[in-house]
Amino acid sequence: MSCKQIILSVALFCIYSAAQAQLLNNNWCGNAGVTPWMEWYKDHRYEITSSRSDETLYVPVTVHIIGTDQGTNLFPFDKAVRAICRMNELYTDANIQFYLVPGDPVRFINNSDWYEHDYWPGGAEMIDQNKIPGRLNAFVVGDPAGNCGYAWRDAIVLGTGCSSENNTTWSHEAGHHLSLPHPFSGWEGTDWDYSQPAPNTMGNKEVERTDGSNCENAGDFFCDTPPDYLNYRWQCTDEHESEQLQHDPNNVSFRSDATLIMGYASDVCASRFSPEQIAAMRANLQTEHDSYLQVSEPGIGVDDELAAELVSPIDSHIVQYNNFELVWNPVPNATIYVVEVFLTPSMSVINRLFYKTLYNETSVTVTQAMPNNRTLYWRVRTYNEWDVCNPNENTQVGILKTRNISATNELERSVIAELAPNPVAGGQPAILNISSDESLSAKLSVTDAAGRVCMQRDLRIYPGDNRLEIETDALEAGIYIISLQNEKGVLLKRMAVTE
Ligand SMILES: [Zn+2]
Repeated sequence: MSCKQIILSVALFCIYSAAQAQLLNNNWCGNAGVTPWMEWYKDHRYEITSSRSDETLYVPVTVHIIGTDQGTNLFPFDKAVRAICRMNELYTDANIQFYLVPGDPVRFINNSDWYEHDYWPGGAEMIDQNKIPGRLNAFVVGDPAGNCGYAWRDAIVLGTGCSSENNTTWSHEAGHHLSLPHPFSGWEGTDWDYSQPAPNTMGNKEVERTDGSNCENAGDFFCDTPPDYLNYRWQCTDEHESEQLQHDPNNVSFRSDATLIMGYASDVCASRFSPEQIAAMRANLQTEHDSYLQVSEPGIGVDDELAAELVSPIDSHIVQYNNFELVWNPVPNATIYVVEVFLTPSMSVINRLFYKTLYNETSVTVTQAMPNNRTLYWRVRTYNEWDVCNPNENTQVGILKTRNISATNELERSVIAELAPNPVAGGQPAILNISSDESLSAKLSVTDAAGRVCMQRDLRIYPGDNRLEIETDALEAGIYIISLQNEKGVLLKRMAVTE
């Protein structure tokens, strides 16, 4: 694809940075957010709109969630599901609804170069190597080239920090994908003293006037989106206008409309597309993106009243604190199950200990250590590809209790100890993390393979997490036994010291 065909929306909803200024000034995309399709549409729109119908247009989406090479920092898929739900709310007036591709709603990709990328080579490679034809490809990454998101190479790319259901980022980028320019088209990347009358052209584009005389050929080419020259993120007034007064080329002053999703007003201000924007998006779907229009009826959703029935553990059943299975019954039509374990019955995200989204699976094994000797709470929320807005208000809550069932004495039952790193390089300290559910005294000893005591000290352990450094300066390479002992029993850890 040549540079001229590139659709780009830079600087969307972002924190202004030097790096971004650099990108904007590079001007390598050249067309400042107006696609070739939009240039064509601008001159043919009246022929097309007459043929458009009011039926709902269904857009299939596959979400590509990018993590680091280590598989960390993956955006929770159910947050993407809720971002699409929010998008559907904002596209209701347009009669456009997004759904996840049945059987292929999400792909997870581990690639640090794509997780945080610039347009070249990271962004371009990520899109070109993963884009699937016939659907909207949404990539979720940690840093999309310094922006909150962008639409480019027939895909949209969203930043994890701008993808909550309170953000309009997804709707804004999908708007670009379906051809919409910014209402301030032409002003991207410019620096202007807004107290002055605007010039007749900006960024090689006609500047839109307040009297509507040139609205078809200026700005975003839409006459029902009033002039807007603001190319930075702005807060709106109570009247849903910009604080910033601007002056058109006739020196008529005006404020920008904050309700438009395609502008840069903050998320709380923006909520709509104009009728002409809607007509353009629908026309785009029926021409440039007609491969998306594969169904005319929505698929079956999940019954909002139905909750996943939890099988085990329930009723305070005791489980091994660091290895237990959660099992539930399938819910009719549900394919996406979000499983969560919490420290408190309020089930707030702050107290969430475990979290996983599963596709067509009805059990999961938790192998990470949970707090021991505690009562924990778990639930399962359900969605499917067609039902991204299930409120999940009736979820059942399972109660379980954690124990160290494999413990052979009382001390092991009340204390969990983790040693890291292990093996440890001689001279470096090893850290013994002790998590206890009570206050206790114990003796810590380090013995070598021959049973000789190399180190010994008395400890006071407090409820919660305790961190102990074990010095290895005086230890030769070899295997050592770390023991924690008191009247309740003994807990042993094997430690390898390397050269
Ligand atoms: Zn944009």
